[in-house]
Amino acid sequence: MRTVSLLFHDVFAADPRESGFGSPAADRYKLSLDQFEAQLAGLAQVRPDVPRLITAMTGGPQVAGGPKASGYWNVPYLITVDDGGVSYYTLVADRLESRGWRGHCFISTDAIGTRGFLNASQIRELDRRGHVIGTHTASHPARFSTCEPAHMREEWARSRMVLEDLLGHKVEIASVPGGYYSRLVARSARDTGLGVVFTSEPITASHDVAGTLVLGRFTLRHGHPTDRAGRLAHRERWTRYQEWARWRAKGLVKPLLGPLYSPTADWLMSRVGPSHACR
Ligand SMILES: [Zn+2]
Repeated sequence: MRTVSLLFHDVFAADPRESGFGSPAADRYKLSLDQFEAQLAGLAQVRPDVPRLITAMTGGPQVAGGPKASGYWNVPYLITVDDGGVSYYTLVADRLESRGWRGHCFISTDAIGTRGFLNASQIRELDRRGHVIGTHTASHPARFSTCEPAHMREEWARSRMVLEDLLGHKVEIASVPGGYYSRLVARSARDTGLGVVFTSEPITASHDVAGTLVLGRFTLRHGHPTDRAGRLAHRERWTRYQEWARWRAKGLVKPLLGPLYSPTADWLMSRVGPSHACR
């Protein structure tokens, strides 16, 4: 399966601190409402189809990639939003729904109900309105791929339990905090019953890792051109390729390349030293 999965974070009306994690690093990923709306408009311009939901795709027949006679590039595109900031409820959901769209809302469950984050009733309502609720771990560890496997499993299991208790149905979709992905991350997700894991690696190909479907994502952040989402979802692959090349140049390529993947990536991540490991 191929997808263009887009990764957003919080959206703000006046101040980045309205929603989500409050740090200069987190703020760099937050879009103003104008920027967010422009990205959605850009998507609508190049795509006659609506963004898809992974829950609807994994149960049914596989979607074929490649150009179609209908004239548009039919690799499905998905909208995902990380962290569980309150802006998914106050700003994002309405903008998506006004276009007939729905998205994926990934929640770090320890933050539920705290300042700037979604509360339980908002999460239930988003679920009822057709948005996919997934886990983004419980505590959002700083460098998740450096955590011990037992710790990874505890983060997934605890957050999943919180969301399932809250929603009254299974939650099997996850996204990796900070993009700190490794095969161990996928295995730990699989071990706790998660069937789909979104990473932050800018690729359209998906992979099966020990029975868990792993999908890359393309990040949109503050300062990006407002037509970036449309370019990423366009049949022309140049913008997607540029993003991939940038990742390679930074040495961030780690997860999905099979034999090309080596402990180097984990070593790179662990160079920051024990005080920054995991948390
Ligand atoms: Zn995050």
